[in-house]
Amino acid sequence: MPETFKAILVSRDAEKKQSVAITDLTEADLMEGDVTIAVEATTVNYKDGLAISGKAPVIRRWPLVPGIDFAGTVISSSHADWRTGDKVILNGWGVGETHFGAYAERARVKGDWLVPLPQGMSPHGAMAVGTAGYTAMLCVIALERHGIVPDRGPVVVTGAAGGVGSVAVSILSSLGYHVIASTGRSAESPYLTDLGASEVISRDELAQPAKPLAKERWAGGVDAVGSHTLANVLSMTSYGGAVAACGLAGGMDLPASVAPFILRGVCLHGIDSVMAPKTVRMEAWRRIGTDLDLQKLASLSTTIGFDGIIDAAHDIVEGKIRGRVVVDM
Ligand code: NDP
Repeated sequence: MPETFKAILVSRDAEKKQSVAITDLTEADLMEGDVTIAVEATTVNYKDGLAISGKAPVIRRWPLVPGIDFAGTVISSSHADWRTGDKVILNGWGVGETHFGAYAERARVKGDWLVPLPQGMSPHGAMAVGTAGYTAMLCVIALERHGIVPDRGPVVVTGAAGGVGSVAVSILSSLGYHVIASTGRSAESPYLTDLGASEVISRDELAQPAKPLAKERWAGGVDAVGSHTLANVLSMTSYGGAVAACGLAGGMDLPASVAPFILRGVCLHGIDSVMAPKTVRMEAWRRIGTDLDLQKLASLSTTIGFDGIIDAAHDIVEGKIRGRVVVDM
């Protein structure tokens, strides 16, 4: 009898009605790839919540093991870069969307998709960062490329109490920025201040339809929300500033005007973590190793077991999760 392992499988019936079950799989059930990994830790990202709840068409291959990121140990490899025993991280590349993902004790993927676990970081720690944290780092790097250094003025982070937001607040404050955290959960103000936010504002301030230009409030921003929030962030960005947009927690639309771009030279920088080239990933994970305070990282993450994934996935799309959720397999 082949060895079995636990997995979450999302299926669809003839009427395209989605169902989610915990099941047993064997390695023969896994999809093609040249590296097989024992998954040791994973996480619940907003996108995983959308996939499991079926609220957005994240899954594009049926049935599918969801889960867009994991950290673990190579069990077998025919890829030149990886040997049995290597510690690796995977983020994106369609894993958990079109390729069997992280919510199983075993994963088989392309070796080209993997990056090494940074020195001194555990699989648990890497997943406390997860795709949300790695995306936050990509946003910070983008702001730096546009010359948004701490001396330029404050930086706003929207969706601040969420995964991307919490890590962005933490990294930016460690780097010396004056961080303005925007949240819909006023009860999380002490949490955001502890992470390093200098000011906490209500998300309501950014939720109404934006004026083409508003009073300049910040030199840059990290936006995880989209829609009116991003439009307001842009309209309040000072001359020559930049905003890194990575999320759509408030909506996929962008009801903005071109005024910030053509009258203030503001730059809108799009962030994609899924297909980011390997060099960009390596740089982001290197910077996470140096710029993210591990004590703050511990304070912004909670740990659950495999059996808690489905509930956490529903909670995250309802905005009930604070910071990051790590799954110890
Ligand atoms: P979380 O659910 O952890 O955080 C999202 C936060 O957004 C919430 O905590 C909440 O923050 C805020 N929010 C939720 N709903 C609304 C709303 N209706 N209006 C305004 N604010 C809202 O998700 P993640 O941090 O994991 O992801 C954030 C976004 O970034 C998602 O859209 C996700 O898909 C996207 N993302 C994109 C990536 C990329 O490659 N571009 C990679 C990773 C994530 P608060 O309570 O503080 O207001």
